[in-house]
Amino acid sequence: MRFLSEVVMVKNVARTLIMIVVLLAFPLSAVAAGHTLLMDPAHGGEEAGVNLSRTVHEKDVALAVATDVKHKLSRADDITVRLTRSDDRNVSLAARKKILQESDVDIVISVHVNAGFGQKAEGYEVYYRAHTPPSTQKDDSGEIVRDMEQTRRFNNSVFLAQLVQKNMGRVFPRKGRGLREAPVYLFGSLKAPAILLEVGFSTHLDERKKLRDPKIQQAIADALTDSVMEYFQAGGAS
Ligand SMILES: [Zn+2]
Repeated sequence: MRFLSEVVMVKNVARTLIMIVVLLAFPLSAVAAGHTLLMDPAHGGEEAGVNLSRTVHEKDVALAVATDVKHKLSRADDITVRLTRSDDRNVSLAARKKILQESDVDIVISVHVNAGFGQKAEGYEVYYRAHTPPSTQKDDSGEIVRDMEQTRRFNNSVFLAQLVQKNMGRVFPRKGRGLREAPVYLFGSLKAPAILLEVGFSTHLDERKKLRDPKIQQAIADALTDSVMEYFQAGGAS
């Protein structure tokens, strides 16, 4: 009896120790690692994008929004924000894609300004990366894991897009043009969930004026900041 209870006790001590180690390791690694967001302000330099006036272009609005998101999130100590560009320079699509692929980030947000479809089109659009159809060859377990990772990435992209869609509604009530799935070139073979936000139309007279307003740009940055916080608080879509 005595021997048995000692064995049980040793086992319990071992189990408790393992539990303590697990409990300590997990939250610590989560806090220490934190979250990383990559903001991608579109265009830059001689690549001005669409124009909102003779002097203000898409590149300026995108940079203002992206840098403001970085500034606002600097107050959250567990979120690090990186930018594909932090000033008015042209970063080629290929170079941008390389930055995206090489940075070990949790989510990616590209910011653009829309144009076209006549002068009546208005409102913001949120694109999430397209879902790659699952592979048909299911005989190797690596393939199954890759499919699962892809599905998770897709679900997280949709989840982030939904949050942005909701929060952008505060800036432009009833102006959301919905979520759209798109095979965004920039997001190809990217490991992280990613969305592209078209903040509004430069070709729409009223919107064109609003998008030039620094207060509106800050409100868009607020909507993105809140979306990112909500995303990480929920632990992604999982
Ligand atoms: Zn653009």
